[in-house]
Amino acid sequence: TTFGSLGLNEHLLLSIDRLGYKSPTEIQVKCIPPALEGRDIIGIATTGSGKTAAFALPILQKLWDQIPTSQGPAIKGGGNGGLFACVLAPTRELAFQISESFERLGKDIGVRCAVIVGGAEDTVTQAISLAKKPHVIVATPGRLRDHLQSTKGFNLKTLKFLVLDEADRLLDLSLGPTIEQILKFIPKERTTYLFSATMSTQVSKLQRGTLSNPMKIEV
Ligand code: AMP
Repeated sequence: TTFGSLGLNEHLLLSIDRLGYKSPTEIQVKCIPPALEGRDIIGIATTGSGKTAAFALPILQKLWDQIPTSQGPAIKGGGNGGLFACVLAPTRELAFQISESFERLGKDIGVRCAVIVGGAEDTVTQAISLAKKPHVIVATPGRLRDHLQSTKGFNLKTLKFLVLDEADRLLDLSLGPTIEQILKFIPKERTTYLFSATMSTQVSKLQRGTLSNPMKIEV
């Protein structure tokens, strides 16, 4: 299988080429076509499988598709319809890695990302980056919830995609209740991807509450 046969557009194929990816990994082969068809996805895959690109590429393609043709090049300068996708990750390190993948893969479509993580990161600086209208936010749950509660003008009302990455670790860190709080701010009409290394009872409960008729993909 080649990346070209998965249905990705020329902008993304160019980025993939630039990154030196020769052929798609198994999770990418199995996820990308149903994702482009608009399905919710539950992916059982570990770090190293190429799962980040498996969810980032379809999201970037849908982001590109929602920009009217006449505005295609304008997205590079900034025009957009508000926050498009949110990825929740268990750790700050993973959040920065995911954001970097979105930026590299989405370079030619002009994607703008914000990383919203806890710890020493400055909340005011984050609020400024949210005010710049990113297309994609990669966040750890606690800090995202804080911004939803206290950052004026910030909301998730335009969100089209939610990704729960490393769901088993999110739940191991007892972030389930925080995720439930965040879900109340997100439109029900959306596409959801959940990735987890393992499929525990807790993960399947979270899955049933957040995904609709998902395609289950295991590698
Ligand atoms: P991930 O499992 O998403 O953390 O990705 C693991 C590593 O594989 C990252 O360094 C990616 O840049 C790299 N990678 C992802 N997809 C491919 C691919 N199709 N070919 C080669 N490397 C890849």
